[in-house]
Amino acid sequence: MAFTIAIDGPAAAGKGTIGRAVAKHFGFAHLDTGLLYRATGRRMLEDTDPVEAARNLRASDLDAENLRSPEVAQAASRVAAIPEVREALVNFQRAFAARGGGAVLDGRDIGTVICPDAPVKLYVTASDEVRARRRHAELVAKGHDISLAEVAEDLRLRDARDSARATAPLKPAEDALTLDSSDMSIEQAIATAIAIVEKALPE
Ligand code: C5P
Repeated sequence: MAFTIAIDGPAAAGKGTIGRAVAKHFGFAHLDTGLLYRATGRRMLEDTDPVEAARNLRASDLDAENLRSPEVAQAASRVAAIPEVREALVNFQRAFAARGGGAVLDGRDIGTVICPDAPVKLYVTASDEVRARRRHAELVAKGHDISLAEVAEDLRLRDARDSARATAPLKPAEDALTLDSSDMSIEQAIATAIAIVEKALPE
């Protein structure tokens, strides 16, 4: 049975953490679609044409080192505004969503463009300050030497670019449920998401 859970939201809102936990709870597969754009952006930083990079992306590219760095994140958001890059990545994402056994995809346009018929759509968000603090702590834990202000600026720039682009901009699907985790622990946000999915699962 294919059962798709679409999770969208701004940068560092906790989509990945919630998506992974929900997938694990229900035994579904999980795809962090941001990795596709990060891998493409990383290739662009190495002087590969981004459209070519997206068309020739391999699974091993998603394991490349440093995909989580703010430089790569910015490059990802720049290539994500190119319609041909997005087009090149659609089929892979839709095929992933359609696999048997259930799938969770997180990104920016999953509920609006990639899987508009998903039975569960969540728009995960949190205040700018909370998102910056969480992402800063994550990056510092991974050994990045970066200030809170720099992280906040990375998120601000990406959200602005992602929301303003003409193709598949960041926005909640009309039928998405918003999960604002500003005042929740990550455990509470995960439990809320699991409860929403449980209600939507077929008997
Ligand atoms: O989710 P993550 O922060 O890793 O995504 C990196 C960038 O990839 C985003 O800022 C956005 O520009 C782009 N992206 C996108 N559509 C998606 C997932 C990510 O445009 N479905």
